[in-house]
Amino acid sequence: MKKLIFLGPPGAGKGTQAEILADFYQIPHISTGDMLRQAIAQKTPLGQKAQMYVEKGELVPDDLILDLIKERLNRPDSQKGWILDGFPRNVSQASFLEDLLNQLDRAADRVINLEVPDRVLIERMLGRGRKDDNEETISRRLEIYRERTAPVIDFYRKRNMLEPINGNLSLEEVTASLKAAIEN
Ligand code: ADP
Repeated sequence: MKKLIFLGPPGAGKGTQAEILADFYQIPHISTGDMLRQAIAQKTPLGQKAQMYVEKGELVPDDLILDLIKERLNRPDSQKGWILDGFPRNVSQASFLEDLLNQLDRAADRVINLEVPDRVLIERMLGRGRKDDNEETISRRLEIYRERTAPVIDFYRKRNMLEPINGNLSLEEVTASLKAAIEN
Protein backbone atom coordinates (compact mmCIF):
# COMPACT_ATOMS: atom_id res chain seq x y z
CA MET A 1 0.00 0.00 0.00
CA LYS A 2 1.45 3.34 -1.09
CA LYS A 3 0.62 6.50 0.82
CA LEU A 4 2.50 9.37 -0.76
CA ILE A 5 2.53 13.11 -0.21
CA PHE A 6 3.81 15.33 -3.03
CA LEU A 7 5.26 18.70 -2.08
CA GLY A 8 6.79 21.31 -4.33
CA PRO A 9 6.19 24.84 -5.60
CA PRO A 10 3.40 25.63 -8.06
CA GLY A 11 4.48 24.57 -11.54
CA ALA A 12 6.89 21.90 -10.27
CA GLY A 13 4.98 19.15 -12.05
CA LYS A 14 3.34 17.58 -9.00
CA GLY A 15 -0.01 17.15 -10.73
CA THR A 16 1.45 15.60 -13.88
CA GLN A 17 3.68 13.16 -12.02
CA ALA A 18 1.02 12.34 -9.42
CA GLU A 19 -1.38 11.43 -12.23
CA ILE A 20 1.17 9.10 -13.89
CA LEU A 21 2.11 7.37 -10.63
CA ALA A 22 -1.48 7.04 -9.41
CA ASP A 23 -2.24 5.24 -12.64
CA PHE A 24 0.88 3.07 -12.33
CA TYR A 25 0.22 2.04 -8.71
CA GLN A 26 -3.58 1.98 -9.19
CA ILE A 27 -4.30 4.34 -6.30
CA PRO A 28 -6.31 7.58 -6.26
CA HIS A 29 -4.66 10.90 -7.11
CA ILE A 30 -6.08 13.34 -4.59
CA SER A 31 -5.50 16.93 -5.72
CA THR A 32 -7.09 19.66 -3.60
CA GLY A 33 -6.52 22.10 -6.50
CA ASP A 34 -8.50 19.84 -8.88
CA MET A 35 -11.23 19.34 -6.28
CA LEU A 36 -11.54 23.10 -5.80
CA ARG A 37 -11.56 23.84 -9.55
CA GLN A 38 -14.30 21.26 -10.00
CA ALA A 39 -16.34 22.74 -7.13
CA ILE A 40 -15.92 26.20 -8.68
CA ALA A 41 -17.00 25.00 -12.14
CA GLN A 42 -20.06 23.29 -10.63
CA LYS A 43 -20.83 26.36 -8.48
CA THR A 44 -21.27 24.24 -5.34
CA PRO A 45 -21.36 26.08 -1.96
CA LEU A 46 -17.69 25.15 -1.46
CA GLY A 47 -16.86 26.42 -4.96
CA GLN A 48 -18.57 29.73 -4.35
CA LYS A 49 -16.66 30.25 -1.11
CA ALA A 50 -13.32 29.17 -2.62
CA GLN A 51 -13.42 30.95 -5.98
CA MET A 52 -12.11 34.35 -4.92
CA TYR A 53 -9.10 32.84 -3.13
CA VAL A 54 -8.14 30.54 -6.00
CA GLU A 55 -8.39 33.32 -8.57
CA LYS A 56 -6.14 35.59 -6.52
CA GLY A 57 -3.60 32.85 -5.80
CA GLU A 58 -4.32 32.95 -2.05
CA LEU A 59 -4.73 29.82 0.07
CA VAL A 60 -8.33 28.81 0.60
CA PRO A 61 -9.10 28.95 4.37
CA ASP A 62 -8.34 25.71 6.24
CA ASP A 63 -11.94 25.23 7.38
CA LEU A 64 -12.98 24.73 3.74
CA ILE A 65 -10.19 22.27 2.97
CA LEU A 66 -9.91 20.09 6.09
CA ASP A 67 -13.37 18.50 5.89
CA LEU A 68 -12.90 17.97 2.18
CA ILE A 69 -9.67 16.01 2.64
CA LYS A 70 -11.02 14.06 5.62
CA GLU A 71 -14.06 12.95 3.65
CA ARG A 72 -11.87 12.04 0.65
CA LEU A 73 -9.44 9.93 2.71
CA ASN A 74 -12.34 8.06 4.30
CA ARG A 75 -13.80 6.95 0.96
CA PRO A 76 -13.46 3.22 0.10
CA ASP A 77 -11.00 3.78 -2.78
CA SER A 78 -8.56 5.52 -0.41
CA GLN A 79 -8.20 2.37 1.68
CA LYS A 80 -5.67 0.91 -0.76
CA GLY A 81 -3.38 3.95 -0.76
CA TRP A 82 -3.25 7.42 -2.29
CA ILE A 83 -1.14 10.28 -3.62
CA LEU A 84 -1.84 13.66 -2.06
CA ASP A 85 -1.05 16.60 -4.34
CA GLY A 86 -1.50 20.18 -3.12
CA PHE A 87 -2.16 19.16 0.47
CA PRO A 88 -0.82 19.90 3.07
CA ARG A 89 -0.03 23.48 2.06
CA ASN A 90 0.73 24.98 5.47
CA VAL A 91 1.91 23.64 8.83
CA SER A 92 -1.58 23.54 10.37
CA GLN A 93 -2.81 21.36 7.48
CA ALA A 94 0.24 19.11 8.00
CA SER A 95 -0.56 18.64 11.72
CA PHE A 96 -4.21 18.03 10.94
CA LEU A 97 -3.23 15.37 8.41
CA GLU A 98 -0.79 13.74 10.82
CA ASP A 99 -3.52 13.44 13.48
CA LEU A 100 -6.08 12.20 10.99
CA LEU A 101 -3.76 9.51 9.61
CA ASN A 102 -2.71 8.43 13.11
CA GLN A 103 -6.37 7.97 14.02
CA LEU A 104 -6.86 5.86 10.92
CA ASP A 105 -3.62 4.00 11.70
CA ARG A 106 -2.37 4.90 8.23
CA ALA A 107 0.66 7.23 8.42
CA ALA A 108 2.09 8.41 5.09
CA ASP A 109 5.15 6.44 3.98
CA ARG A 110 6.91 8.99 1.79
CA VAL A 111 6.90 12.73 1.36
CA ILE A 112 8.34 13.70 -1.99
CA ASN A 113 9.65 17.23 -2.47
CA LEU A 114 9.89 18.09 -6.17
CA GLU A 115 12.57 20.74 -6.58
CA VAL A 116 12.56 23.14 -9.55
CA PRO A 117 14.22 26.59 -9.88
CA ASP A 118 11.87 29.63 -9.86
CA ARG A 119 12.78 30.71 -13.40
CA VAL A 120 11.63 27.33 -14.75
CA LEU A 121 8.45 27.38 -12.65
CA ILE A 122 7.35 30.71 -14.08
CA GLU A 123 8.04 29.58 -17.67
CA ARG A 124 6.07 26.37 -17.15
CA MET A 125 3.07 28.08 -15.57
CA LEU A 126 2.86 30.77 -18.23
CA GLY A 127 2.96 27.99 -20.81
CA ARG A 128 0.07 25.99 -19.37
CA GLY A 129 -2.53 28.78 -19.52
CA ARG A 130 -4.81 27.81 -16.64
CA LYS A 131 -7.17 30.57 -15.49
CA ASP A 132 -5.06 31.30 -12.38
CA ASP A 133 -1.80 31.22 -14.40
CA ASN A 134 -1.37 34.93 -15.17
CA GLU A 135 1.79 36.74 -14.12
CA GLU A 136 0.31 38.50 -11.11
CA THR A 137 -1.29 35.39 -9.62
CA ILE A 138 1.81 33.30 -10.31
CA SER A 139 4.07 35.62 -8.33
CA ARG A 140 1.52 35.66 -5.49
CA ARG A 141 1.41 31.84 -5.47
CA LEU A 142 5.20 31.64 -5.34
CA GLU A 143 5.23 34.13 -2.45
CA ILE A 144 2.59 32.16 -0.54
CA TYR A 145 4.53 28.99 -1.26
CA ARG A 146 7.68 30.44 0.32
CA GLU A 147 5.84 31.85 3.33
CA ARG A 148 3.34 29.13 4.11
CA THR A 149 4.25 25.90 2.29
CA ALA A 150 8.07 25.82 2.51
CA PRO A 151 7.83 25.33 6.35
CA VAL A 152 5.93 22.09 5.64
CA ILE A 153 9.18 20.75 4.14
CA ASP A 154 10.88 21.20 7.54
CA PHE A 155 7.91 19.60 9.28
CA TYR A 156 8.55 16.37 7.35
CA ARG A 157 12.34 16.68 7.36
CA LYS A 158 12.25 16.63 11.19
CA ARG A 159 10.22 13.44 10.99
CA ASN A 160 12.73 11.86 8.59
CA MET A 161 10.05 11.39 5.95
CA LEU A 162 11.35 13.76 3.30
CA GLU A 163 12.64 12.61 -0.07
CA PRO A 164 13.97 15.44 -2.31
CA ILE A 165 13.68 14.82 -6.06
CA ASN A 166 15.08 16.95 -8.88
CA GLY A 167 12.06 18.07 -10.90
CA ASN A 168 14.11 20.00 -13.46
CA LEU A 169 14.64 17.02 -15.79
CA SER A 170 12.52 15.53 -18.55
CA LEU A 171 9.09 14.24 -17.62
CA GLU A 172 10.24 10.62 -18.10
CA GLU A 173 13.39 11.12 -16.04
CA VAL A 174 11.41 12.62 -13.17
CA THR A 175 8.92 9.70 -13.27
CA ALA A 176 11.85 7.25 -13.16
CA SER A 177 13.48 8.93 -10.16
CA LEU A 178 10.15 9.09 -8.37
CA LYS A 179 9.56 5.37 -8.87
CA ALA A 180 13.08 4.62 -7.65
CA ALA A 181 12.54 6.74 -4.53
CA ILE A 182 9.15 5.18 -3.83
CA GLU A 183 10.31 1.59 -4.30
CA ASN A 184 13.50 1.68 -2.27
P1 ADP B 1 -0.47 24.97 -8.10
O1 ADP B 1 0.20 24.21 -7.00
O2 ADP B 1 0.07 24.65 -9.44
O3 ADP B 1 -0.54 26.45 -7.84
P2 ADP B 1 -3.04 23.72 -7.35
O4 ADP B 1 -3.94 23.14 -8.37
O5 ADP B 1 -2.40 22.79 -6.38
O6 ADP B 1 -1.98 24.54 -8.20
O7 ADP B 1 -3.83 24.84 -6.50
C1 ADP B 1 -4.51 25.90 -7.11
C2 ADP B 1 -5.12 26.83 -6.03
O8 ADP B 1 -6.07 26.11 -5.22
C3 ADP B 1 -4.13 27.41 -5.01
O9 ADP B 1 -3.49 28.57 -5.52
C4 ADP B 1 -5.05 27.69 -3.82
O10 ADP B 1 -5.81 28.87 -4.01
C5 ADP B 1 -6.03 26.54 -3.84
N1 ADP B 1 -5.61 25.38 -3.01
C6 ADP B 1 -5.26 24.15 -3.45
N2 ADP B 1 -4.95 23.33 -2.42
C7 ADP B 1 -5.09 24.07 -1.28
C8 ADP B 1 -4.89 23.79 0.10
N3 ADP B 1 -4.48 22.59 0.53
N4 ADP B 1 -5.13 24.79 0.98
C9 ADP B 1 -5.54 26.00 0.58
N5 ADP B 1 -5.73 26.32 -0.71
C10 ADP B 1 -5.51 25.38 -1.65
